[in-house]
Amino acid sequence: MEILGELSKVIQGKLLVNEPMTKHTSFGIGGPAKAFLYPDNEEDLANTLKFSATHNIPVYFIGSGTNLLVSDQGFDGFVISLQKTFKAIRIDGKHVFVQTGTMMGHFVKECIKNNLTGVESMIGVPGTLGGAIKMNAGAYGREISNSLTLLNVVTLQGEKKQYRKGEIEFGYRYSSIPNNEIITSAEFEFKIGVSEEINRLKAKASQSRKQSQPLRFRSAGSVFKNPSKDQPAGYLIEQAGLKGTRRGDAEISTKHANFFINKGNATAEDIVELVRLARGRVKEKFSVDLQLEIETLGFPPNYLDA
Ligand SMILES: Cc1cc2nc3c(=O)[nH]c(=O)nc-3n(C[C@H](O)[C@H](O)[C@H](O)COP(=O)(O)OP(=O)(O)OC[C@H]3O[C@@H](n4cnc5c(N)ncnc54)[C@H](O)[C@@H]3O)c2cc1C
Repeated sequence: MEILGELSKVIQGKLLVNEPMTKHTSFGIGGPAKAFLYPDNEEDLANTLKFSATHNIPVYFIGSGTNLLVSDQGFDGFVISLQKTFKAIRIDGKHVFVQTGTMMGHFVKECIKNNLTGVESMIGVPGTLGGAIKMNAGAYGREISNSLTLLNVVTLQGEKKQYRKGEIEFGYRYSSIPNNEIITSAEFEFKIGVSEEINRLKAKASQSRKQSQPLRFRSAGSVFKNPSKDQPAGYLIEQAGLKGTRRGDAEISTKHANFFINKGNATAEDIVELVRLARGRVKEKFSVDLQLEIETLGFPPNYLDA
C-alpha cells in the first residue's frame, strides 16, 4: 500500500484503490484492481506510466469494459482508463480529431450531425473509441478502421508515438497496435453523405440490433468471433444445443447464443465454464475451434480453453 501513497503524489487525476472491476465491466463481473486510474491529461498519463514501469507494476488499459471478462481474483496492477478525461472532439469538414475516451455513441452522433458517412451503422456499439480502435469494432459491414487516418499513442515508458493507418494491420476484430501502448487520440477522414441516407442506415442498424440482441441483460457482446459468414458462432452454439444453458447466474442467451448474459450475480468462473462448454461441444460436433472475441484480464494462460 506504500506504493499507492507514492502514486497518489504522482497522479493528478482520480485514483481508486482496491477497486472492484464489477463497476467497470458491462458484464458486472470481476475482482478488484490494485488501483483504477483516470489520468487528467497526456502528461499525467505519461507520468503514471513511467511510475508503473519504474516500480514494475503491471498496467492494463481499459475503455469502458464492454468487451472484457475480468477474473474473480481481479488484477494485481493498475487499470488505466481515459473514459472520463480524454473526450475532446473537433470536426473540420471531412476531418475529425477525437480523443479516445469519447464514447462511440457520442462520436457516431457527432459524425451524423455533420453529415459524415461511414460510422452510422455502428450506432449501438457500446464502449469508448479507444476500445473500438484496438478491437477494430464493426457492425453491419463497416469497421472503425475504414476511415481512420492517424493514431496517437503513449508507450509504457511515457513516450508519445504516432502511427499512420498503413503502419497498423487491421483485421476482423483485430489490430496490431501493441498491447503496451495506449491510444490517446485518433484522426479520421470521412465522406460527406446525404443526411436522409445516413439516418436510414442508422435506423436500420438500431432496429436490427434490438431485434437480435439480448440488450436487457448485462453481457460483453459476442463472446466468440464468427468462424465464417455461413457459420456464425451463435448458430454453431445453438446447433450444439446450448441455448439457455446456465452455470450459476450466467446463461447462454436464448435470444442470441453468442451472447452470454449475467442474470444477476454471475461470477467470472460461471462464464468461463460456459465458454469451455461451448468450445468443447462445437469442436465435437463441427470440428471448429471457436476463438474468443472478448478480451480477458487476470486469468492464467489458456484458462478459457475447452
Ligand atoms: C451489448 C453489446 C453489443 C456489442 N456490439 C458490438 C458490435 O456490434 N461490434 C463490435 O465490434 N463490438 C461489439 N461489442 C463489444 C464492445 O462494445 C466493443 O468491442 C467496444 O469497442 C469495446 O470498447 P470498450 O471501450 O468497452 O473497450 P474495453 O472492453 O474496455 O477494452 C477492449 C480492448 O481494448 C483495449 N483498449 C481499450 N481502450 C484502449 C486504449 N485507449 N488504448 C489501447 N487499448 C485500449 C483493452 O485493453 C482491451 O484489450 C458489443 C458489446 C456489448 C456489451
